Order: sequence, then structure tokens, then C-alpha cells
Amino acid sequence: MVSAVSNEARICRGCWDQMHMPVPIRGPLALPFRAVGITQSKMNPNICTICERSFRYVKKERHISASASILFADIRGFTQLSERVSPILLSEIISLFHDDCAKAIWAHDGIVNKQMGDGLMAIFNFPIKTERHAAAAISAAREIQRRCAAALQELAQRHGEQLAQGIGVGIGVHTGQVEIGEFSTLRSDFTAIGGTVNLTARLESQAGPGEILVSAEAAAAAPEFVTGATRMLTLKGIENPVPAHILS
Ligand SMILES: [Zn+2]
Repeated sequence: MVSAVSNEARICRGCWDQMHMPVPIRGPLALPFRAVGITQSKMNPNICTICERSFRYVKKERHISASASILFADIRGFTQLSERVSPILLSEIISLFHDDCAKAIWAHDGIVNKQMGDGLMAIFNFPIKTERHAAAAISAAREIQRRCAAALQELAQRHGEQLAQGIGVGIGVHTGQVEIGEFSTLRSDFTAIGGTVNLTARLESQAGPGEILVSAEAAAAAPEFVTGATRMLTLKGIENPVPAHILS
């Protein structure tokens, strides 16, 4: 397991925040837990595989309604890129993207809930409680852009400026109520669903390379982070245009 979190917790912060139960995930006390398969989660190394896979056990319910901030990110221009670079370079770019995103999300106590090829979804405020979760999500988004821009520049120096043309990360951030739970009997990882998640995905789909689109709700919860222009977006499945703050 990579160790990219700067603030390495000795006990699982998810189990502590949700149940006040100390589950050791680092140090000698973690060894007997590791022996029975309880280890650091791939969603965030400061949480454990109990909170990742045993949602019903942790929450004693099938699902819960929670206030959270959601972040979607993906590589804009990826389809065109995949037509002009080798599969090896393409996989290197995907790995860099996922690593840089994870580091930025973990640094702000979010979890990488889903990875989908050239994109991902992150949740802030579950299972690690984060009082200012909109600010955390926006800070993570900015760090993703910083890290990925540097990585792309470095790749362009090695492989030619053409590589970076039209390529960049697009990000959407939104805050609201979500349903968190396990929504499949075949796969046991928890996830978040609902209108808040859908709107975040739609925001992200409208973000250009290097852009972060922040919803009015997320911006209101973290006004000090949001400066700059707003754009009215017509989003699929949503009747009225939605205002979004543009950070770039
Ligand atoms: Zn845990």
C-alpha cells in the first residue's frame, strides 16, 4: 500500500468517526487485525477495510442520508489522446492521473470511492467526518489541477509538446444530501447515490481542460475559496440552467 497521506493515522479514522471504535491500522497493534484481513482501505489509507466493506455493520442500517461533498474528475481529451499515443504511454498517463488525484483527495480527508478508466468519484465527509467538507473538496480539486498540470508538463517535455494539446483534467464539485450505502448484494463496497451525485457528474462533464466547476451550494459553503466567473449551464435531465463557479 502506498503511503501518500501526510497525516498517517494509527487507528482507522472512519471507524473512529462513525462508531468511536479504535481499529489499529498502523504499528504493532495492527498486526493481529491484518492477520484476519483488516487492513488499510484502497479508498483512503487512513480508513480500514471494515468501513469500506461492512457498511451495514458500521451503520447498522442498509443506507443512511448524509450531507457530503462530491468530486468528479476526468481527463478531458482522453479519447483523442488514446488515438495518437502508444498504449504504454496511455497507461502511464492514467496511472499518473489516478495517483495524483488520490494524493490530493487523501490530503483533504476524502475517499476515492470509484475509479472509472480515465475518471473518478470522491466523497468528502464520509466515513471520515470533515466539518468543512465543501472547502476540503474544493482544496482537493485545486491540488489535483496543480499536480496534474505539473505531470502533464513533464510528460510534454519528454514526449513533445503535441502530447499535451487539448489535454487536461476537468473537475466538478457539489455539496448536498446523498444516500450512502451498499446498493448491490453482489458487490459490498459502499457508495453514494442521489441527485447530488448526478449533478456533480453533469458539472464535471461540462468542465473544460484545467477547469473546476463548483456548484452554488458548494460555493456558499466555502465562499473564501470561490472567486472568478460564473457560467450558466444547461445540464442533461435538469430543467432550469444551473449556475456554476469556474475556477481555473
Ligand atoms: Zn474502519
